[in-house]
Amino acid sequence: LNRRLAEFGTTIFAEMSALAVRTGAINLGQGFPDTDGPEEVREAAVRALRDGRGNQYPPGPGIPELRTAVAAHQERFYGHLGVSCDPDTEVLVTAGATEAIAASLLALLEPGDEVIALEPYYDSYAACIAMAGGTRVPVTLRPDPESGSYALDLDELRDAVTDRTRLILLNTPHNPTGTVLTRDALAEVARLACERELLVITDEVYEHLVFEGEHLPLASFPGMRERTVTIGSAGKTFSFTGWKVGWVTATPELVGAVRSAKQFLTYVSAGPFQYAVAEALALPDSYYTGLRDDLRAKRDILATGLTDAGFQVFRPSGTYFITTDIRPLGFDDGFAFCRTLPERAGVVAIPNAVFYDHQDQGAPFVRFAFCKRTDVLNEAVTRLKQLA
Ligand code: PMP
Ligand code: GLN
Repeated sequence: LNRRLAEFGTTIFAEMSALAVRTGAINLGQGFPDTDGPEEVREAAVRALRDGRGNQYPPGPGIPELRTAVAAHQERFYGHLGVSCDPDTEVLVTAGATEAIAASLLALLEPGDEVIALEPYYDSYAACIAMAGGTRVPVTLRPDPESGSYALDLDELRDAVTDRTRLILLNTPHNPTGTVLTRDALAEVARLACERELLVITDEVYEHLVFEGEHLPLASFPGMRERTVTIGSAGKTFSFTGWKVGWVTATPELVGAVRSAKQFLTYVSAGPFQYAVAEALALPDSYYTGLRDDLRAKRDILATGLTDAGFQVFRPSGTYFITTDIRPLGFDDGFAFCRTLPERAGVVAIPNAVFYDHQDQGAPFVRFAFCKRTDVLNEAVTRLKQLA
C-alpha cells in the first residue's frame, strides 16, 4: 500500500458493521436504513432489468432520463432560489456520492493544493484528498453544550484560507454532527470563495433530511454558480444505499472536468438503477415530506432515549445521525467505548474520533444512526439504559 493511503486502514463503517454481524448487536453504526425505499421504485428497477434497459454500458454522463430527472429535481426544489441546470451539460451521474467526491477532487486538485474541510468529516474526504495529492486543512465545528448543537466559526474558516487553498469541501446537512449550515454561514462561505477565488465541492446528500430550518444549496448564493460542484445521492434520498447512484451538478466546465476523472474510475454507473432513480426523483412531494417526517419522529425517539440513558445529546437539525458525548456516563474514549459496546449493551455505534485530524477533539463523542425501524430504536434504547 502506498504512503498516501497507508494511514487510512479499513474504513470504520466496514469494521463496525462486521462487529455488529459478529456479535448480533443492533447496528446503529453505519448509516443505512433497515427498510428499503419505495416499492414502486424497486419495481422500476426490476422492469428495467427485465426489459433490457441499462444491462449494457449506459452513456458515460448517465442516461438522459436520469440527467433530465436530476435537473428537474434541482428546479423543483431550488428553482425559487435561482438554481437551474441543463441536463445535457450540467449533470453527471456517478457511482454514489462517494465517487462524485473522489472524481471531483481528482479532477480539480493539483498536488500540494490545500483543501479546507469541516471537521469532523465523512471519512472518505481525507482519503480522497490524499489520493488526489492534496493537503487537507480541517476547520473544526465546535460543540456547544448550552445550545446542544455544533457551530462553524466563520473567523476560523477565513483564517484557514492561504495562497495554496484551492477549494473548500463543504457538507450540509453535516455528517456526523447533524448541523444544517445557516443562511448567514453559507453566505459567508460564498463571500469567502468569491473573494479568494476558491472552488467549493458541496456534499448535500442529506438535502431532504432537514427537520428544522431549510436546506439551502450553496450554488444558489451570489457568485457561486460558476464555482460550485454540488453532490446528491439516491442512497440517502430514496433509501437505496446499495444501488450506488449519485450525481454532480455544476457548470459545463466543472462537470466536464469531473467527468474526465469519472470515466477512468468506473466509466459508468449501474444502468438499470439509473432508470429506477429517474422515476424516484419524480415522486410527489408527499414522498419527500414523508421521508423527512418519519425520520424526524425517529430522531426524537432516539434523542430522548439517549438522553434518558445518560448521554449528552447534540440534537441534529438534519441527517440521520445523532452525535453524543459519553462523558456523563463516565467514559472519555469513544473508540474503547464503541469496541466494547456490543458486549456491554448489544448496540453498535461509531466513534467520532475517526472523523477528526485533531483526534483529541473527537475523543469523547459517539455517533448513533436513527434510520432504523421504531421497534429497533426502542430496543436499542432499552439496552443502552442498562449502561447507566
Ligand atoms: N457523503 C456523506 C456526508 C455521507 O454521509 C455519505 C454516505 N454515508 C456519502 C457521501 C456517500 O454516499 P453514497 O452512498 O451515495 O456513495
Ligand atoms: N455514509 C454512511 C455513514 O456515514 C456510510 C457510508 C459507508 O459505509 N461508506 O455512516
